[in-house]
Parts: sequence; structure tokens; C-alpha cells
Amino acid sequence: MTDVPFSSLGLCDELLEAINDQGFESPSPIQALAIPPILEGKDIVGLSETGSGKTAAFTLPALQMIDLDADEAQVLILSPTRELCVQVCEEVHRLGKHVKGLRAVPVYGGTPIDRQITQLKRGAHIIVGTPGRLLDHLRRKTLKPATIKLAILDEADRMLDMGFREDMEDLLGAMKSDHQTLFFSATMNKQVQKLIQKFGNDPEEVSIKGQTKTVSTVTQSYYEVRNRSKVEVLTRLLDMDSPRLAVVFCNTKRSVDECTDALTARGYAADKLHGDIGQQARERTTKRFREGKFDLLIATDVAARGLDIDDVEAVFNYDIPQDPEDYVHRIGRTGRAGREGRAVSFVFGRDIYRLQSIERYTKQKITRAKIPTQEEVEGKRADQLFELVQARLEKEVSRSYRHYIDRLLDQGHTATDIASSLFELLRESLGREGEEIIEDRPDYNANKDRGARRSREKGDDRDDRRSARGDRGDRGDRGDRGDRGDRGGRGDKKEAGMTTLFVSLGKAAGVRPSDLLGMFYREGKIPDNSVGRIQLFDRHSLVDVNEKVASQLCDALSDSKLRNQRFRIGADRMG
Ligand code: AMP
Repeated sequence: MTDVPFSSLGLCDELLEAINDQGFESPSPIQALAIPPILEGKDIVGLSETGSGKTAAFTLPALQMIDLDADEAQVLILSPTRELCVQVCEEVHRLGKHVKGLRAVPVYGGTPIDRQITQLKRGAHIIVGTPGRLLDHLRRKTLKPATIKLAILDEADRMLDMGFREDMEDLLGAMKSDHQTLFFSATMNKQVQKLIQKFGNDPEEVSIKGQTKTVSTVTQSYYEVRNRSKVEVLTRLLDMDSPRLAVVFCNTKRSVDECTDALTARGYAADKLHGDIGQQARERTTKRFREGKFDLLIATDVAARGLDIDDVEAVFNYDIPQDPEDYVHRIGRTGRAGREGRAVSFVFGRDIYRLQSIERYTKQKITRAKIPTQEEVEGKRADQLFELVQARLEKEVSRSYRHYIDRLLDQGHTATDIASSLFELLRESLGREGEEIIEDRPDYNANKDRGARRSREKGDDRDDRRSARGDRGDRGDRGDRGDRGDRGGRGDKKEAGMTTLFVSLGKAAGVRPSDLLGMFYREGKIPDNSVGRIQLFDRHSLVDVNEKVASQLCDALSDSKLRNQRFRIGADRMG
């Protein structure tokens, strides 16, 4: 990512708003370099690979130059495959969501042409298509080349490799000579050069290929993880290896927020850095991280720039970076001063291409690793517990519980059975129940201020835990053995402006925090951040919500079902 703000590239407000909606914090290098000359009307040759953010680099200026009043095709994007056409068209829609009246249509081979003809006849400002099918439309006159102001070749090298040269030349040749052309290609070769010579108008070359860099003391691995499992996998890896300090990198501010919330909700000592956080707060966070006040920093590339901390043991690429250069920067945060470090990347689906381009760029192999099973994590936890007890025995043995132990022995229990039960209880009180987690967002400041940490490691939040249990005890008057979703001792208090709703279903009905969250947002149609603390009990749940939306929610959910069961919802009278 770059330091240049999106707002300095000359893009209009509708586009800046969509960029913000996407959570893009700053332009990728290809975007920063390519957008200004494209907006000036220049032809460009953009050398960049998939994953560099090239689609937005040409889509954003294309969207800006469309005349919405003219009901004609103005931008033509040539893509090698049907899959890519669809993806590019989706990106056009995402980034053009605030451009009122915009119409973009994908056209590709392998599907009946009639529907495409109807769509094109209805009018489209942007057409994204495979060369063969576009040529077909040109011949049928459903595509009129004279109105095209901007032609974009996406992955020109790949289209040429696939044998589309003639089709591409026919298409470009049919357009008016004064149209603007953008050639995007991952590689430059004779074929691509010939095409540029023939159809380019003094193009400016924009390349983001940099020098190869290596970080030899860092072990690099990757895990194949779906988006929705990233938090679970991350926590397993953290539990397995307990890195002293770790940085988790995300590609967007939203991703940073979500990841931080999920981790703090699970009781990890985490804090975040991104562009929306003021400079002073960022400096405070960095200082606290350096001092080891918390051990997981979640950050975007830009926010983490200049983070100068030697002891980072692990870097997690929660989202694989756009740009191989960013990867090198990220993993450069670990393995410093000759120390060993680990870099772990989460990939899924198309991300694998980004990983391959990173491997090519760094000339280093990133090995695939197996996600530890829950049993392996449990085993590791038991080892940690063993060490804890062993250390305590070596230090001092408390006499204060002696008479309880004597009573148990008198009752005929063996010393081994007693010790096993205590181990079990200790494990339960320190452990994290993978599924029973809170997934709300606010309140993490409360956690932070309290310096909550996972007690298995630091042991300084025992009082927090006790107070959480005390709170639970107060609820005993309902006859339920309540269980708080948050195991880090966080969120004992309701936030200002929040009120608690009672839902008459709980753990016994299989309800999970995510079910409640999903239902509240989906069916209650409430704005983001309206839901706070969620507490799950056996036969009911308590959910803190913004008081402004409470009655709207109760109305909206009065006939809803949760886990296929009807329930009552209303203000919590005990709260
Ligand atoms: P591409 O290289 O066009 O295939 O882009 C890869 C991914 O990066 C897409 O999912 C985009 O939504 C995302 N992306 C593009 N630009 C940015 C940006 N400036 N910051 C974060 N993500 C981006």
C-alpha cells in the first residue's frame, strides 16, 4: 500500500465513498501510479499481477469518465475468461454503487447470446467481455465501436497466450482512432509489445515490479482457510505456539476491526492500528505493544509502517496482501536482528495466485501447513497446565486447602483422582470453548483498559474472571446456570446508551451468539454497531442493544424463530 491518500488521486466523491465502503484504506501502488495519468486521458501500459489491485486501478477512472446522460457504450473492457469478466463486472458495480444510473454488462462465450443482446440493446455504459464474444456482438452490431472512448485490455499477455490476438486486433481496429487505450499485463513480451505499438498512443509505462527481497530467518507457511474460519484458525495457532508478540495484518480497516473484536471477545489481549485511529492513540498503542502490555497487534499495512519493534515472534497475514512488496514489509516485522521469526498466511481460492506471485517475487517457498485439530490444541493446553502446576509445586505448596484435601481423602478418594479433578477444573476455567464465543463489536476498550489477558499466560486478570463469575452467580435467581459468552472477564458492565433485552432461548436450544447477532441485524434491520454484549444462559440470553433501536427490534422480532423455535423478547427486567 502507499502513503498517498485516495482523495489526492483526482477521483470524485461518489467513487471515494464507494472506496470507503469497501474499507480500502489507501491506494495500492498500481492504483496510485495509474489512476492520475488515466484520468488525464493518457494511454498507459500497466505492468502488474493479479492481486495488485489493478482492477480498481482501471475501473475507478473508467467510472469517472462515463457520461451517464449518453445512453451508449463508452468503456470496453477485454478480459481473457468468463470468470474474470464476471469478477471485473462485479468490481465495476461495487465501486460504481454511488454512481446513479450506471449500467455495466458482462458478455462472454459459452452461454446463449440472446439475453446478452437484450441487455446490450437496453443500453450499457460499460461492457466487460471476452474477445471472441465481443467480436460476435460487433458483427451483430449490438456493440457499436464508434462510441467507445476507453478500451481496457485486462491481462493482455494471457489473452494473447489464449490465441485472441486477431479478435483483439479486430476489436481495437474497429474503434475510432482517438480513443484511449489501457494495456494491463502481468508480463511484457514481444507479442504484447507489438500490440502496444500498433494500438497505443504514446503510452506511459506504469510498473510496480520491484527488487527481489528475502528475509532468511523467517519461516514462512500458509494455511488454506475460508474467511469465516479465519478467527478460529488464528486462535488455534496462537494457542499452540503462544508467540510473545505477534502482528496480524489485514487488508482493510473493516477487517482489522472485525478481527480485533473477535479476538478480544475470545479473551485475547489484542489492540489495533488503522488509518481511522488518531495519531496520538496510534502512538499510545504502539508504545503499549512494545512494552508487552498486550501481545497481539492487528493492523493495516499503512498503519503498521514504521512499527519498529524487534521482538515480534510471528506475523499473521490474516488477509494475503495485494502487493508482494507489502508481504516483504509485513514479514520484515519479524525475524529482526537475526532472531527467528514466523510468517503465517491465510489463503483461500484465488488467493493462491497472490501467494504464487509472492513466492516468485521473494524467490522463497511458502510451505503449506496443516491446521491443528482441536485435540492437538487441547493437548498443548494440557502440557501448559502441567508446566504451570509443576512450577507451582517446585516453588511452594500452599497449606490453606489442606483440610479440604483431607476431607476428600477421608471420603475415600485417591490423591490421583483428586489431582485429576483439579486439573480438569483448572483446564475448564482457563480454556476457551471454541464455539461459545461472543461476536459483538463494542466494549473492547473496556477490556483494554482493564488490561485483560488470557490468564493461562499472564495470570493478572484472575480478579476479572472472578467478578465475571460473581455476576453470573447473581443471575442464579433465574434458576439457570448462566454462562457468559466472554471468557476474558470483559464486558461486565453495559455501555452507556445501551439497554438489555431478554430472549427466552439460550444454550439449551443450541443458540449461539452468532445466531442472535445474525437475526438482530438481518431481521431487525438495525444499523451497524447496535449490538453490544451478549450473554448466553442455559434457557435464556441477554443482549445489550442501543436503546434507540430496542423497541423497533422487539417489534420486528416478535414473530421470528431462532433455531426453529418461537421465543419471547423484551426488556430485561432484572437488568
Ligand atoms: P485485483 O488485483 O484487481 O485482482 O485485486 C485483488 C483484490 O484487492 C480485490 O478483492 C480488491 O477488492 C482488493 N483491493 C483493490 N484495491 C484495494 C485497496 N486499495 N486496498 C485494499 N484492497 C484492495
